[in-house]
Amino acid sequence: MGEGEGEGRMVSVDFGADFLVRWLEASARAVEREADRLTELDSAIGDADHGVNLKRGFTAVAELLAKEPPATPGAVLVAAGRQLISTVGGASGPLYGTLLRRAGKALGEDERVGREQLAEAFGAGVAAVSQLGGAQVGDKTMLDALVPAVEGLRSSFGAARAAAEEGALATVPLQARKGRASYLGERSIGHQDPGATSSALLFAELAETARSEGAA
Ligand code: ADP
Ligand code: MG
Repeated sequence: MGEGEGEGRMVSVDFGADFLVRWLEASARAVEREADRLTELDSAIGDADHGVNLKRGFTAVAELLAKEPPATPGAVLVAAGRQLISTVGGASGPLYGTLLRRAGKALGEDERVGREQLAEAFGAGVAAVSQLGGAQVGDKTMLDALVPAVEGLRSSFGAARAAAEEGALATVPLQARKGRASYLGERSIGHQDPGATSSALLFAELAETARSEGAA
């Protein structure tokens, strides 16, 4: 039954380091699968490297985690974030790296964490991304998917996934105000933001990983 009412009491599912490792491994596979689409989106309003960038980064993350799996959920996210920062050249490397590293730090040393704690931690990560890149919701960046995703995660993994997907789709009519796409001015209108699209992918994989553990 997973999270929610179970025989009249609340059953809360919590997650260990292995859960975060499985999520990041699934994300690496998803990024690999969708790399061409992400690069295509980036070719419309950027420099056609988003899929390539993330494939390189997440492959390196999966390799690192397989070789030296950290002991706590927080340490998994910090290690993954560092790896993204050191392997991805584009803007998305430091931004996703900051998201994961900051979220990992927020989780501290806890061996098991709950969904609400994850939402809180990703909230801190998203705030750090906004601070680093100076972008807000509506600027046509990954934040358009990440901010609603974190809000959704306070309710459920499924809500986070749906909100991220909706946020990514909502970038289409926007004019980019941050990042490379902003150089295009009005010509950035009518295209889905690559970073918001990859963010939706990551939250879709989080929901899948949670579902396979019986959490909603
Ligand atoms: P680059 O733009 O350096 O080529 P990528 O192509 O890998 O890097 O990533 C582009 C994505 O990064 C954009 O689609 C956008 O979502 C995100 N991005 C760029 N600049 C910012 C920023 N200042 N704040 C948040 N996200 C940003
Ligand atoms: Mg690019």
